[in-house]
Amino acid sequence: MKKIYFITGSQDLYGEDVLIQVEKDSREMAQYLNEKMAGLCEVVFTLVVKTSGEAEDVCLKATSDKDCIGVITWMHTFSPAKMWIRGLQALKKPMLHLHTQYNEKLPYDSIDMDFMNLNQSAHGDREFGFICTRLGLKREVVAGYYRHENVIEQIRRFAHAALGADLCRGMRVAMFGNNMRDVAVTDGDRVESEIKYGWNVNYYGIGDLVKIIDTVTDAEVDAKMAEYAGKYDMDTDNIEAVREQAKYEVAIDRFIAKENIQAFTDTFQDLHGLRQLPGIAAQNVMTKGIGFGPEGDYKTAALGAVMQKMSEGRSGATGFMEDYTYDLTAGEELELGSHMLEVSPVFAASKPKIQVHHLGIGNREDPARLVFDGVSGEGIAVSMIDMGDRFRLVCAAIELVPQPQPMPKLPVARLMWKIKPSLPVGAAAWIYAGGAHHAVVSTALTADDIRLFAKMTDTELVVIDEKTDLNSFEQQLEMLDLMAKLK
Ligand code: MN
Repeated sequence: MKKIYFITGSQDLYGEDVLIQVEKDSREMAQYLNEKMAGLCEVVFTLVVKTSGEAEDVCLKATSDKDCIGVITWMHTFSPAKMWIRGLQALKKPMLHLHTQYNEKLPYDSIDMDFMNLNQSAHGDREFGFICTRLGLKREVVAGYYRHENVIEQIRRFAHAALGADLCRGMRVAMFGNNMRDVAVTDGDRVESEIKYGWNVNYYGIGDLVKIIDTVTDAEVDAKMAEYAGKYDMDTDNIEAVREQAKYEVAIDRFIAKENIQAFTDTFQDLHGLRQLPGIAAQNVMTKGIGFGPEGDYKTAALGAVMQKMSEGRSGATGFMEDYTYDLTAGEELELGSHMLEVSPVFAASKPKIQVHHLGIGNREDPARLVFDGVSGEGIAVSMIDMGDRFRLVCAAIELVPQPQPMPKLPVARLMWKIKPSLPVGAAAWIYAGGAHHAVVSTALTADDIRLFAKMTDTELVVIDEKTDLNSFEQQLEMLDLMAKLK
């Protein structure tokens, strides 16, 4: 279980009795938060920091502890902040500055100077906040009573994002084949991706997978077919085509386990030795938390793995999606998202059907794929692009809607949505921002989750939502370009 360190700030000035009380309160608070983070991570009380040496030690320990995904800091009393400088300079984990108190209400009848000196977060957290700002430290500030549900929600959100950021460190991404020829937005700087996020992105020949496919036994294919039969409706007579995909998936599973892979890409331009483009094989793998990007799109694959990690334990679906086509009826504009095959069945509104259809691209046999209509509800679409001098996340608020009419001839899974605030504004903003035609769509996460992840990884983020106004949006983009040039 991953951990979040709970670190309380104080000082030596108040005497032993006060410090004993500070520690007792802190332990109780950390224990309460620990219970509220159940299933997500542990909250571990560390110590009451009274000196710069203690601050440095605990921050170094948090930085070097591989199980520590972040820290919660809180000043019970005043804590002169010069003592925090060395510690905060050493801290390389996400920080949540919890601006709270041990007591919810003021004891109006009994309050005296002793009470005020013991419970002065309003004072101490401002001093601590100043030094964080002075050091240019990215952190999340959560203000309010620590037992209130909205505060707990924000801490849980932080923990989810911290788990995503933690997954990044050393995450391995496999590319079968390279980026689709001549495509710009799916390409990127893999060395920079590893420096910035810790994503270790490597090329594999599709032949490496074919070699594994050749070792898959009939019994293994039978077991995979039984898994499909349990989850999906077999809506084809071409069982051989489905078995071919089942074989691919067994091989991909084995490859993933052997190489410790969290995300992968393939490309229809490099299928040497495969009879079909992976369809249901790729789709079913995506349901197991593995990120996927087609056409060599390693950024979307990696981001998909991270966002799936961030949404673990939350209701909703998260997966790869591609902008495809529109219904441009005035005032009721809808987007149809899909892909040539690879849409994750986590998005299915009802039981997916296994079908086999011709695929005009890739020059291979007809591939088996899962076909379904998509879920509805509030969601986000997130795209990561490489601006040359930095990465940018584009996050758009969308409303997934039921498809207005059946599409009996469309042989692929699909989602439909409205971009906010409207298609004329939202889609234009996306295009001004350089957002890709590939994204990770999630109904489990919100723009706030992406904001946290962006903060933790120091990534530029632009959000498109109900409040987006094109003039200020374009000005924001210009400001961001200017800021990047100044860095
Ligand atoms: Mn595509």
